[in-house]
Amino acid sequence: MHDHRRLGRELNIFDTDPLIGSGLPYWLPDGAVVRHALEEYVREAERRAGYRHVYSPVLGKRELYEISGHWAHYSDDMFPPMDLGGEQFLLRPSLCPHHALMYRSRPHSYRELPLRMAELGGMYRSELSGVLGGLTRVRAIQLNDAHVFCTLEQAAGEAAAALELIRRAYGALGIVPARYRLSLPGPGGKYVAAPELWERSTALLREVLDASGLPYEAAEGEAAFYGPKIDVQVADGAGRESTLSTVQIDFHQPERFDLHYIGADGAKHRPVMIHRAVIGSVERAVAHLLEQHGGAFPAWLAPVQLMILPVSEAELPQADALAARCVERGLRAEVAGPERGSLGARVREARLVPYQAVVGAREAADDLVALRLRDGRRLPAAPAEEILGRIGELAGAHSTELWS
Ligand SMILES: [Zn+2]
Repeated sequence: MHDHRRLGRELNIFDTDPLIGSGLPYWLPDGAVVRHALEEYVREAERRAGYRHVYSPVLGKRELYEISGHWAHYSDDMFPPMDLGGEQFLLRPSLCPHHALMYRSRPHSYRELPLRMAELGGMYRSELSGVLGGLTRVRAIQLNDAHVFCTLEQAAGEAAAALELIRRAYGALGIVPARYRLSLPGPGGKYVAAPELWERSTALLREVLDASGLPYEAAEGEAAFYGPKIDVQVADGAGRESTLSTVQIDFHQPERFDLHYIGADGAKHRPVMIHRAVIGSVERAVAHLLEQHGGAFPAWLAPVQLMILPVSEAELPQADALAARCVERGLRAEVAGPERGSLGARVREARLVPYQAVVGAREAADDLVALRLRDGRRLPAAPAEEILGRIGELAGAHSTELWS
C-alpha cells in the first residue's frame, strides 16, 4: 500500500494550499479526469438501478437541522452558523434533510414507492486542522448519497439491492473490503431516543446481512445518531480501517419531517428512509484507490489510458494522428515524443499508464499499433482500429483486466 498524499501530489491528482485552508483540497486536471470517470460510473449504475438524480443547495437554515436532529446531536462537527438578514444558515452536514424536504414537497402514492433519490452533492464537516491531511480527513466532502423512500415491506429488499450495488462497484474499482460491519449505538453516545425504532431497524439490517451471506461483525458505538447502519470498511497500508460505503434503515427522519404516502387503503402511511452511499465520498474513494493501486488505476479510470511513443521524430505525425483518433473515440491518449528521452526512459516514465503504443517505421507505414501493457505483456502489432476498439470496449465495460 502507498501513501495517497504523496501519490496525489506526484501524479498531479490533487493538492492543497494554505491560503485555501487545510482539509480543502483542489483537484488538478488528472485528478478531475479520475473523478469524472468515477462519478459517471456511479450515476450510470444508479440510473440502471432505478434511481433519479437531483441537485440541492449546500446551505440550509438552522431550523432545518433542529428538525432533523443534527443541531442537537451533531453540531460539534458542523461549521458555526452564518448570520444573514436576521436568519442563521448552516453549511449542511449531510444531504438527508434536503432530500426529506424534496420528498415532502409533493404528494406521493404507494404506487410511486420505492422512490429512489440520488445526488452527488457537497457536505461539510468542521474537522480540526490538526487531524487533516490528504483526501481522508477533509472539511468539504462530495458525497455519493441517495435516499430511498419506501414501505416497510420494501425496506429489506431495497437495502439488499443497495448492498449489491456496492459489491458491483467494488468489483469495477478493484476494491477489496476489509470487512462488513453492523454499526450499533454504544453507551453514552448522542443518539436519538426511540428504542423500538432502533430495534426494528437493527433487525432489518441483520436480516439483509444474513441473507447476503457476507461475513460481518457487529460494533457498538458506530451508529449514526438516528439509526444503525451497515458499514463497508476498507483498510489503508497501516491496517487502519475506515468506512467507505454505508446502508442505513431510518425510521427517525420520516417521523421528524412528518413524511407520508397514501396507501392502497387511501390512508396516510409513514415511509421508511434508506440512506446509502455506494462509493462513499469521492475524496475517500480516490484516496483509497490511489493507495490500493499505487496510482495504477483500472484502465477505465486512468487519467491517461494510452501513451503513444513514436520511436523517432519521423513517426511524430502518425503518433499525433493516432492520438487524435483516440480523442474521437473518447479514449484518453497522450504522445511522448523523443524530446522526452530515449524510448526506454519514456516507457519507464509511463509505467502507470495501462497501455503504451510504440510507433516505429513499420507501424507508421501500415497503421499498426504494437501494444505494451502496464503489466509487462507485449502484444504483436495489429491494425490500429482493432486495438483502439478493444481498449474502448474494455474501458466501457469498466473492466479491471488490462487485456482479455
Ligand atoms: Zn442520509
